Amino acid sequence: MVVGDIATGTDVLVVGAGPAGYVAAIRAGQLDLDVTLVEKEAYGGTCLNHGCIPSKALITASDLAHEAGNAEEMGIHADPAIDLEGMVSWKDGVVDQLTGGVEKLCKANGVNLIEGTAHFADENSVRVSHGGEGQGSESIDFEHAIIATGSRPIEIPNFSYGDEPVLNSRQALALDSVPDSLVVVGAGYIGMELATVFAKLGTDVTVVEMLEDALPGFDPELARPVKKRAKALGIDFHFGYGASKWYDHGTGIRVEAEPAEQAAAETDGGSQAAVEDETLELDAEKVLVAVGRAPVSDTLDLEAAGVETDDRGFITTDDRARTNVDHIFAVGDVAGEPMLAHAGSKEGQVAAEVIAGEPSALDYQAMPAAVFTDPEIGTVGMTESEAEEMGFETAVGKFPFQASGRALTTGHTDGFVKIVADADAGFILGAQVVGPEASELIAELGLAIELGATLEDVAATVHAHPTLAESVMEAAENALGHAIHTLNR
Ligand code: FAD
Repeated sequence: MVVGDIATGTDVLVVGAGPAGYVAAIRAGQLDLDVTLVEKEAYGGTCLNHGCIPSKALITASDLAHEAGNAEEMGIHADPAIDLEGMVSWKDGVVDQLTGGVEKLCKANGVNLIEGTAHFADENSVRVSHGGEGQGSESIDFEHAIIATGSRPIEIPNFSYGDEPVLNSRQALALDSVPDSLVVVGAGYIGMELATVFAKLGTDVTVVEMLEDALPGFDPELARPVKKRAKALGIDFHFGYGASKWYDHGTGIRVEAEPAEQAAAETDGGSQAAVEDETLELDAEKVLVAVGRAPVSDTLDLEAAGVETDDRGFITTDDRARTNVDHIFAVGDVAGEPMLAHAGSKEGQVAAEVIAGEPSALDYQAMPAAVFTDPEIGTVGMTESEAEEMGFETAVGKFPFQASGRALTTGHTDGFVKIVADADAGFILGAQVVGPEASELIAELGLAIELGATLEDVAATVHAHPTLAESVMEAAENALGHAIHTLNR
């Protein structure tokens, strides 16, 4: 403890109030633990302030504008004017409502809230420095700690987020005018979601990606309709290229991108020799870099507590979210994949329950993932090839949205529902949906896996008509060989 500090103690100290940390704190409060939550910036973390929620708000608004302006086929003739400042201010209102709600829920569950930045002093205490001059610091002793400090956008060489035309996702979600043109570096889910938003708002968008396809980590079968639609929206793709530098050419910026192998060598400090005619030159008003996120573990003085990370800085944990130090837990993005808000929240709940002595453990078998591109993607459990690699004989059913009455009435018929089951017992092992409302439809299939449901169970469940969810039932029927509205294979 530093002289002049105020010292307090708590059963459970949670560092970081994102969806992993605030959920852990609320759950600990519900379990009658004495809990203190320290947050340095804003309740709700990246997810509520600069990630999931603001991006989904802008996706909804840009969809609305685009749909209204492109609905002649439905007899609607409109030419919506985009006021990005107004759109961003509406989005900010949504964010404020949610972050205010988090603060109230924490208080209502007895969570002691402290604003400041926590650093470990040793394995049973942290120092919290309060922002602003003369605000001082305090020491907090804890019995258990839950680290939930999240992640930050990765910067690539020569593209500093401090330079005005270079944006990270957080900055892109707070622009006050729509750029005429935008280069997006990275075709992962964040890059693809934001590329789609700006294309729908009228920006001329070009995506540069090191790998040979968009949405790495997702089945190419799911990425295909998303790329097709993106191209129809006017987005240009350059796969196999890495952005290497940018410069101002007077009336805008020029982004240069090198073939991937060469760009990787340069990043590693390798050869600088550019093969001139292979260098891409892309002119734009701004460049958005969305190449992934790194854990916020380097600012915590973890060594003082003896907490270990892997070589990329992610804190290593077991199936109870426990670090190598028995009474210190790590949850959410800082503990690595899956770096998704709901995964972090589940980990937070498990950590709080384990601390309270409950027999909780993590199980990622039915962990969904959703991508809010156009069309959306929703996945849960195993893909067909993963199931086969695990030694299952699979029964697979598919239903295309083109055959769905409800999809036709929404004007969105790209994509399909695919269900992968164990051929012997019929248990559902996984599902992939690409199409309208895929992020919602995947929930039924997650529940099916969680409950150990079979293809028969899903097929026998009557689904209301006309709904997109009927496609889930039809895909299960298709796997059983008796779908009504598609040919059975
Ligand atoms: P964070 O949300 O990053 O919160 C960590 C908190 O810790 C922050 O508030 C930070 O200020 C605080 N903190 C850090 N260090 C300290 C310290 N020393 N002392 C005190 N406080 C500290 N996920 C989805 O599931 N669905 C989506 O649709 C989705 N969309 C996304 C879109 C974008 C543009 C981005 C960037 C991310 C998106 N994500 C999405 C990912 C999601 O935001 C993260 O997985 C989630 O926020 C991780 O939660 P967390 O609690 O681990 O960390």
